Amino acid sequence: MPKRSPSSLNPRAPLVLDTRDLPRRPGALRTHRRVVPAPADLGVELISVPEGADLDLDLRLESVSEGVLVSGTITGPVQGECGRCLRAIDYSVVVNVQELYAYPDSTTDDTTEEDEVGRIQDDLIDLEPALRDAVVLTLPTNPLCREDCPGLCPECGVHWDDLPADHSHQEIDPRWASLSQLNRTEE
Ligand SMILES: [Zn+2]
Ligand SMILES: [Zn+2]
Repeated sequence: MPKRSPSSLNPRAPLVLDTRDLPRRPGALRTHRRVVPAPADLGVELISVPEGADLDLDLRLESVSEGVLVSGTITGPVQGECGRCLRAIDYSVVVNVQELYAYPDSTTDDTTEEDEVGRIQDDLIDLEPALRDAVVLTLPTNPLCREDCPGLCPECGVHWDDLPADHSHQEIDPRWASLSQLNRTEE
């Protein structure tokens, strides 16, 4: 009995690749260059690709005996917050993708689980799960505005960059201050 995917893919979805124009002859190649809007929640807690931002797909689809190998890069902007000083972080990432998608009823289809190797459904490839995995692997779990960000002074919350080198809060405790006053009057 042929395996049916519970939900069929929308060929017009931004991250769905159409393989119908790719000959099923190992070695056949197609390039796929397109700018698509980023899906929601693409990233990790402190840093992510804003929803709807331009994702630049520069991909190569190659026929192999068991399916289609998708490789290339996806470039997009990321925004987040420095884990030490909370300053905004804004840069662009290049994510490398290399993923095999098996033809239905190929040996790979029969011998692997769907979460190990992607599947081609109705000649379409859903790139989104692989993209999500790749982005999460690329983004830092602890983003910093710069490698050596010194963070904030824990006492006053001002960035160490904006404080003088001798900045400190080691003032005399008011109780000790009054005690030293007392000592002085006794003298
Ligand atoms: Zn910082
Ligand atoms: Zn301070």
